[in-house]
Amino acid sequence: MDELMASHIGAFMLGQLTISLSEDEAVLAGPGPCPIDTEVVATPEAIREWVRIDALGRYRPLSGARTLRPNWHATFATLAALDEAIEAVYPLAQAHIAAWDEGTLRVVGLDEVLARQTGRYRSAASLSQEGRDLASSLLCAGCVRVPVWRRDYPAAGEIPCPEPCSVLVSYCREAVSWEEEHPAPRAIDPLVPFAAFEQPGNALRETYLYLPGVPL
Ligand code: SF4
Repeated sequence: MDELMASHIGAFMLGQLTISLSEDEAVLAGPGPCPIDTEVVATPEAIREWVRIDALGRYRPLSGARTLRPNWHATFATLAALDEAIEAVYPLAQAHIAAWDEGTLRVVGLDEVLARQTGRYRSAASLSQEGRDLASSLLCAGCVRVPVWRRDYPAAGEIPCPEPCSVLVSYCREAVSWEEEHPAPRAIDPLVPFAAFEQPGNALRETYLYLPGVPL
């Protein structure tokens, strides 16, 4: 038995994960409790591979996206092994929670992140303030991390996001062309990849185009 684990007995949520600790095992479970679910091999590599795609088989470029496959679990014998698996699902989440709790998390805003872009992402800095607000509202709403860089405040146990991610930068970059060209929104195609913002049918693209100027 892992003595450290025995001292943490109970269940708690982290993002879309449920973590249950008993005296002799730790169970990491995905969303959607199902009596007959999939047992994933309890190694960081297997867990990382498992969460790489969503239920439709689409690559998940945003680790915090609320698109984890449902109905699976993995069982670990030690807290150290569990920690590695959590890190595979939500990289840096535990470090960010600890730093936030200690008041040492370094927070960087969207303006600064867009201003430092180079190469093909340099144009993202041209996005209007309304566009920045809309893009971050739409993307971050579907993420388990809480964008403290937007002054959102995480509840206990929630994962603070200290800095706009590369997916948001990519979304902002694409939104610059939408502000210039005003393409008409199309129907959402669920098979279009999550971050293929340039592709008609992408859910985040079409939602953005449908909601211009809506204060969020
Ligand atoms: S910027 Fe938003 S979408 Fe990206 S990781 Fe942070 S909270 Fe999630």
